[in-house]
Amino acid sequence: MKQKISFVIPVYNEEANIPILYRELTSVLAEVPYSVEFIFVDDGSTDESLSLIKQLAQSDSRLFYVELSRNFGHQYAIKAGLDVASGDAVITMDCDLQHPPAIVKELLAKWSEGFDIVYTLRKDDLKISWFKRTTSTAFYSLLNWASDLNLEKGTADFRLINRNVINAFKEFKESELFLRGLVKWAGFRQAAVDYEPHQRYSGKSKYGFKKMLSFAFRGITSFGIRPLKLVAYIGLLMFIVSLILIPYALISYFLGQTVPGWTSLIISIIFFGSLQLFMLGIIGLYISKIAIQSKQRPQYLIRDTNYITRSEGEIVE
Ligand code: UDP
Ligand code: MG
Repeated sequence: MKQKISFVIPVYNEEANIPILYRELTSVLAEVPYSVEFIFVDDGSTDESLSLIKQLAQSDSRLFYVELSRNFGHQYAIKAGLDVASGDAVITMDCDLQHPPAIVKELLAKWSEGFDIVYTLRKDDLKISWFKRTTSTAFYSLLNWASDLNLEKGTADFRLINRNVINAFKEFKESELFLRGLVKWAGFRQAAVDYEPHQRYSGKSKYGFKKMLSFAFRGITSFGIRPLKLVAYIGLLMFIVSLILIPYALISYFLGQTVPGWTSLIISIIFFGSLQLFMLGIIGLYISKIAIQSKQRPQYLIRDTNYITRSEGEIVE
């Protein structure tokens, strides 16, 4: 039997893009040796997107829709699609044709070489606005500093994920989804494919500055505890400095080089200030542990095993 590829496409007010994307994808896929399904996840669109998808579904039995009850956001729309998809691999891509359908073939080629995750890297291109390029570079630098992820610049939610990874992702119940980070974190066998981004075919980006900023904060707080560690380190450093400054203040006092009140004041400021920062850092470290724990992320993911539980009564000779 042919292997099946599911396409998961998050849709938020993309009425003008849906038919074009569908047309381009079907023409690219006409030549591949797999069966396919298209899952459009409507993320609370207020335009004609959903009825358009339903219309297309009438003439193509490989096309499905998942209608979310309201706008949950891009990441959750993708997760919903991953949860329902039944393919041997899933390709997630945006609906606005910025992720060129032609690249799909390259993703599939890498997949057939045995990779579990084939992700894409957006080549820096002048078609992307200066603002978006700069903020995106700054974001990846900050994220990589704050966490141990080492996410490559230009990683997008345009990727192929094999069934074993999707099954693992079904265990993820964290409320603050940052798929790019999770995919990197998950490990497995990963390969990258470069692509030149296209311009959004129609409509405006749904990621305004505010949304981008909150996305960035989400990524950093979901994976990074280094900022909290930094507070603890600075506190410790200041504490050590205060241990040097305090004798200096005392010596100045005994040499009579100070105005009345300066010594006691400066000692309490230095000592308690640094002590507080140090303690705050330590509390922060505990909070970071609580934050990570509360995500209930699995402790490990298994890529493959030939283990069959005896409790199921199967005896392997
Ligand atoms: N999207 C979504 N829900 C949202 C915002 C966006 O499902 O709340 C979809 C959108 O329809 C598109 C994809 O996510 O298919 C990426 O959004 P967009 O193109 O606006 O982001 P950008 O490419 O500008 O980062
Ligand atoms: Mg886009």
